[in-house]
Amino acid sequence: MSTGREKAAEVGGGGTDVRDALYERLTAYEGRSASHAAVGKDPVNEPMIRHWCEAMGDDNPAYRGPGAIAPPTMLQAWTLGGLSGHPDRSGAYEELSTLLDEAGYTSIVATDCEQEYLRPLRPGDEVGFGNVIESVSPRKTTKLGTGYFITTRMDIRVGDELVGTHRFRVLKYTPAPRPAKAAPASAPAATAPKDARRPRPVINRDNAGFWAGVAEHKLLIQRCADCAVLRHPWLPGCNACGSLGWDTVEASGAGTVFSYVVMHHPPFPAFDPPYAVGLVELDEGVRIISNVVGVPYDKVRIGMPVQVEFLRVDDELELPVFRARSEG
Ligand code: ZN
Repeated sequence: MSTGREKAAEVGGGGTDVRDALYERLTAYEGRSASHAAVGKDPVNEPMIRHWCEAMGDDNPAYRGPGAIAPPTMLQAWTLGGLSGHPDRSGAYEELSTLLDEAGYTSIVATDCEQEYLRPLRPGDEVGFGNVIESVSPRKTTKLGTGYFITTRMDIRVGDELVGTHRFRVLKYTPAPRPAKAAPASAPAATAPKDARRPRPVINRDNAGFWAGVAEHKLLIQRCADCAVLRHPWLPGCNACGSLGWDTVEASGAGTVFSYVVMHHPPFPAFDPPYAVGLVELDEGVRIISNVVGVPYDKVRIGMPVQVEFLRVDDELELPVFRARSEG
């Protein structure tokens, strides 16, 4: 049973184990139930196996026909509650979480899971399962912050026979303080508070040419120097042939809305939800994500013709956006 802790230590990134008073209190929960026992919503069945295999692209003949078994990696699928859910966590798990919350370890992140397959599951098997709090780690300091790893283990049974286990590990932690940001070399003239400004694009040597084009009000598409396939966003190499050689073509700027989403949540200071984010297919064939302007967010439609224009956001930033064109 030491594997869990060794792995947790790896995730922890080499910090020192601290066996403090809280750790002693937390370990008292080891071995206690983490959730109430439950049974699978459906027995192991061929339609779910087939859907899984199709989604995974797994055409192993062991999962089809007479004598078929379920893919072992489906183990957790047979235990999931779906929208109607399963019984809640146990009182012991709630107490453990509350102890950590009250001590200031209020954040949580899932770190890894681990499964063991003891015998194949077959159509008709009815699974039952229960969760136990298997282990709590000493206090560890990770890049995310300082806290305790909690490992729960689900035992999956058919009748009395243990057929598999599913371990799930989380880190309950206090976030590390964010490093203070260095002051910018020259303070921007923009009047908006810095965190309310539109995010800056990350410009690097792979995409600098695109932004140089934007500065000249040109929408530049990369073209492979060998096979002439167009690509966007900009990349160092060609996905079609692997060539590292490229030049550019200037897009006409005309395109259509290929798809879009309307953002309501989460709110972000630089944006005023709801707003539409469009995936625009340029007439040249590549697609680009940007705002669709000149039309209310709820009037954006797939297939809507659009034309690029360049939006001056602030003193430092100009962005290509797409204005709805009146249809034919
Ligand atoms: Zn190519």
